[in-house]
Amino acid sequence: MKIPKTAAWALIAAWAAVSIPLATLAEDNTAGYIARLLEHAVELQSDSKYAGTEWFDDLAARIPALRKKTVEDLNRMMGLAYVDKYTIVLRFEDQNEDGARKFNGLQAQRVTATGPQGEFQRIHLFLEYLKNGQADPAEKLLHEMSHAIMRELMPQDAYLRIPQWVREGTAVYMAGQEDDRVQHILGLKAEDNPFSLIQDLKAKHASNDYARDSLVFHYLVERFGPDKYRLFMKKLVIDRMPAEKAIEAAVDKPFDEFRNDALAFAVGKIKAFADKGDTAYKEAFQYYRLSLFDRAISAFAEIIDAHPESYAAAASSYYLGKCYFYKREYDKAAAAFLGHIVVYSGKSGLVDDAKWYVGMSKYQKNDLKGCAQEMSEFIRDYPYSASVLPKAYYYLGDCQMKLGLNDEARRTFKRLAESYPGDEYAKKALERSAGLDAPPEVPGPDKEERKGPPGEGD
Ligand SMILES: [Zn+2]
Repeated sequence: MKIPKTAAWALIAAWAAVSIPLATLAEDNTAGYIARLLEHAVELQSDSKYAGTEWFDDLAARIPALRKKTVEDLNRMMGLAYVDKYTIVLRFEDQNEDGARKFNGLQAQRVTATGPQGEFQRIHLFLEYLKNGQADPAEKLLHEMSHAIMRELMPQDAYLRIPQWVREGTAVYMAGQEDDRVQHILGLKAEDNPFSLIQDLKAKHASNDYARDSLVFHYLVERFGPDKYRLFMKKLVIDRMPAEKAIEAAVDKPFDEFRNDALAFAVGKIKAFADKGDTAYKEAFQYYRLSLFDRAISAFAEIIDAHPESYAAAASSYYLGKCYFYKREYDKAAAAFLGHIVVYSGKSGLVDDAKWYVGMSKYQKNDLKGCAQEMSEFIRDYPYSASVLPKAYYYLGDCQMKLGLNDEARRTFKRLAESYPGDEYAKKALERSAGLDAPPEVPGPDKEERKGPPGEGD
């Protein structure tokens, strides 16, 4: 259903229960952001690349109710009796490739900003990740609002003394993102020992640590109960106790003992997760490596049937597409890659690759319009995918050229050359633009390395 913009705004206005003086945010509400949602301290980029689409209007219409539910859920879990005075600003905006480079692919970020009435919290939510399915709006809001609420209830120095594993562990646990993070690290290390990714709590925090962080608090709740978790939160946020002392006070155990048990619990949970389909996956992947594609296809399909929620199924659904691609069965390949995107976007580090292969499956069938459409969407929705973007620009330009859209092709090649100077595809683009119309190479299995997830802002 397409909601006309005015209707969407009316819907939001009707929902408004609490207003804050517009002056609170006026100075920060820079030109380019829509002011009509200010009753809910929500800002939407008015000239977003998604503005005017049904998806954007639907998202805008959902935000006030989502915000209300987020605060209710966090109050229930954290027990901090936070009252939403709409001083935490939610800003929905495009990230684009420059932003992805600047923010290192962060899907969202909480910052402390200053307005006319002093300091306030602002959460940047980047639209691309919500659009491409890598981020769920409800989970993102729970995660970032939990940071923002803790920060609102604490002065900066006290908040920054909380170790990152505590800040992120509580946020991931409360947002219900744990299984996705576990699945993600397992997918990254599918052929290796996944436990090599579990670091000690004292090690420098890395993007693969979110699963472990969450499992520590999962352990606290499962072993000691939700009341003890709320007691820990009170000691930490209201009484400003150091994190380890707050845990000791809540669970009535020395911290080291808690730490050892929590990490053992984390290893056990990850192992249980990994065991689902793990042996079968390793076998299927061997068939794939040996180009025994028919055997690999039936093995991958069995894993998806048997353990649809496992990391092995997520990885299998991607490699199923690759098998069909190398068998030159491009319709089946495109369908498999699309399935991977639809089902596993939030859990997989391979969705951008899958999207690119949907485009290439169409390219191989000489569906130039279809391929151009896929590559345009790739460029719009996966700004963090620095290793694939040059290829996406290149094949978009190539399709445009073959479709006789020479001006568009020149613009695409120019943007590629300017954005990724030195990249091999940028060099090829320059040659194509100059009229050296060499036929493009058929892409091979050139990108098998696993990538880390786009990072998680505080
Ligand atoms: Zn965070």
